[in-house]
Parts: sequence; C-alpha cells; structure tokens
Amino acid sequence: MVGAGQLARMTLESAIALDIRLEVLADSQGDSAVRAGAPHRLGSPDDLDALRGLAEANDVLTLDHEHVPTAMLELLASEGHAVRPGARAVLLASDKVHARREMEAAGFPVPIWAEAASADDVEAMAERTGWPVVLKARGGGYDGKGVHMIESRSQAEAIMAGGEGWLVEERVAIDIEVAVLVARRPSGDVAVYPVIETRQVDGICHELVMPADVPEAIAQRAREIAVALVTEADVAGIAAVEMFLTEAGELLIGEIAVRPHNSGHATIEGSVTSQFENHLRGVLDWPLGSVEPTAPSVAMVNLLGVADCSTASRLPLGLAVPGASVHLYGKEERPGRKIGHVTAMGKTRAEALETARRAASEMTGR
Ligand code: ADP
Repeated sequence: MVGAGQLARMTLESAIALDIRLEVLADSQGDSAVRAGAPHRLGSPDDLDALRGLAEANDVLTLDHEHVPTAMLELLASEGHAVRPGARAVLLASDKVHARREMEAAGFPVPIWAEAASADDVEAMAERTGWPVVLKARGGGYDGKGVHMIESRSQAEAIMAGGEGWLVEERVAIDIEVAVLVARRPSGDVAVYPVIETRQVDGICHELVMPADVPEAIAQRAREIAVALVTEADVAGIAAVEMFLTEAGELLIGEIAVRPHNSGHATIEGSVTSQFENHLRGVLDWPLGSVEPTAPSVAMVNLLGVADCSTASRLPLGLAVPGASVHLYGKEERPGRKIGHVTAMGKTRAEALETARRAASEMTGR
C-alpha cells in the first residue's frame, strides 16, 4: 500500500485477521501505519523507483491516498504489476477538472462547472449562477484544503495568485451530503454499503450516520449512481462516491475517492465486513464480504486535535462511555487534525449519535 496514514493503519488491522502481509510505503517512521507495526519501506509516493520496488516485492499495489502520479501507475501496470485501483480510476479521484469532464461526458450528474484560468472565468460563472461560487484547486486537495467559497472577483484574484490549475463551479444549495461506499473486484462484482450521511464543517468531515435519513428512492438512486461510476472507472477495491443532495432533491456528484475513506470508518463495527477488509478482498480479487449493517443506526464522530493536545491522554474518559468504540491513529495532535474517531450503534440515529458525540467530547474536552 502506497502511503502509511490512518487508512493504511486500519487496513492493516483487517490484513492481520486474514494473514495478509501488508507492506506500506511510508514517508517516515512516525507514520500512523508504521507505528502500528506495518512492514514498511521509506520513500516518496512520487518516486518511481520506490513504487517499483514496492510493486516488485508484493502481489498487488494499492493506495491509501491518491497523490501518486498516474503515469507511474500506468507504467508499472504495463510492466506486469497488478495496480489496483488502476491509473484511470486514480486520475478520476485526483484531478478535479478531469473528473468533472469525464463524469459530465458520461452523463453523471455534476454541479455546473468550468475550468478557470483567470478571475474572468470565475466572474463568468458568477454571472451564470450568482455569487458565491466555489473555486477549487485542480489537484492535491483534501479535507477542504484547496476549496474556496468566492464572493468577489478580487477574492478570486487573490487566491488564484497563489497557485495554478483551477475549476470553478456553482455553489450548490446543499440539503445534506452523502457518501456511498462500493467495493469492487476486477471481475466486476460489487458490494454496495447503505448510504451514509456525512456532516462537514469547513470541508472537514465531523460526523456521519449510516444509514442516511433520506427517502428510499433517493437512497436507491445514490447507490445506482455510485455503482455506475465505480464500474465506469473500473475501480478495484473500495471507492467512496461523495454526493450533494440539493434542497431541490437532486443528487450531484461531489467527488470520488478510490481507497478506504473517512465516510466508511463506521463500517468497522457497523457492518458485517468493514470497508478496509472489503478493500483488501477487492484488490486481491477475492469474494467480497457482506455489507449488511449490524445495527439499525451507526454513527461516527471524528476526533479532531485540540490546541492543548490532550485528546489521547483523555482516552479513559471516552472508554467510560458505554457503547462507544474509540479508535486512535497514533498521530501527533495538532488543532483540527484527524487523530482518531469514535463509533457507536443505536436503535435510532439519535441514540447512536448521542453516544458517539458524548465519548468524543469527553476526549476532546469540547
Ligand atoms: P476535498 O477534495 O478537499 O475533500 P471537496 O470537493 O470534497 O474537496 O469539497 C469539500 C467540501 O466543500 C464538500 O464536502 C462540500 O461541503 C463543500 N463543497 C464542495 N463543492 C461545493 C459546491 N459546488 N457547492 C457547495 N459546497 C461545496
């Protein structure tokens, strides 16, 4: 697995259960998965020799993030290595302009968008859809970094001066945000999890509930869109398709991730088979596991670092909350950084959310 963050760490837990040797390509010894004992080598995800070395030593090459040059993935595949997901899927997840263009051409519902080379293009979008508009860096973003709500031409100019490669789109009137996780084998078999509601603040996922509280017809449509996209992109392993449910009741695709995803963390306790195990099964072309939920409602709250860095030391307070499952990633705490999460199950969404929130707030002191 290229990358050794918390996604690799939680994938390692599933790998251990199945006696799969999961070797990670880490930036440093301090990476989350390395601290958990993953076999590892040090190297950069954009260093071809490092990637090739990892691919040669293992049966399958997979990813914990998409910041890997797709040309290198293509080259490794052409050399006979099993690269899963493949370059085409990774490009869809890492280049927002490419993603919007491909999805629109294939008939998938996306916001009104355009490539933006200058503030003129931003202004043109605002003339079409009204201010504010959303300006996004084409690549490299995560957790809302690189996503800007733009109110004026001068604001666009200021932000665009600090980088290149942008797209601009309408500011969608979002009712709720949802994600659909799909596990897929190279042979085409898929397993689709129940629709998950995600709550973002400033582009960062704060909490989620599975299943989302949406009409069955919407849930069905969201699942259909996700399966169609994942199939079109020829994904192997797990993918998360993030969508906006608009106030008008329309579903629009936000983005796709082709790796385990924050929106799926509740599947560890809340599904018969977690997203991490199904990612491994998918990339190894093994039978996918059941995605049935284990409770009527499952909630997850992210543990975001606080200024006095005391969250991990308050672990016993979180553990004292009955029904709360706490996960810590072994990451240095910084304000706002994802350092763990809490999952809880309930007969109702209110019950599940209440338990998870209580444990999280005991730990963060908020
Ligand atoms: P990232 O790659 O950083 O996760 P996203 O494209 O997923 O960026 O955007 C992050 C968040 O910004 C979304 O979850 C959503 O809350 C908000 N957002 C993104 N695009 C739009 C849009 N067109 N209209 C309204 N909100 C948006």
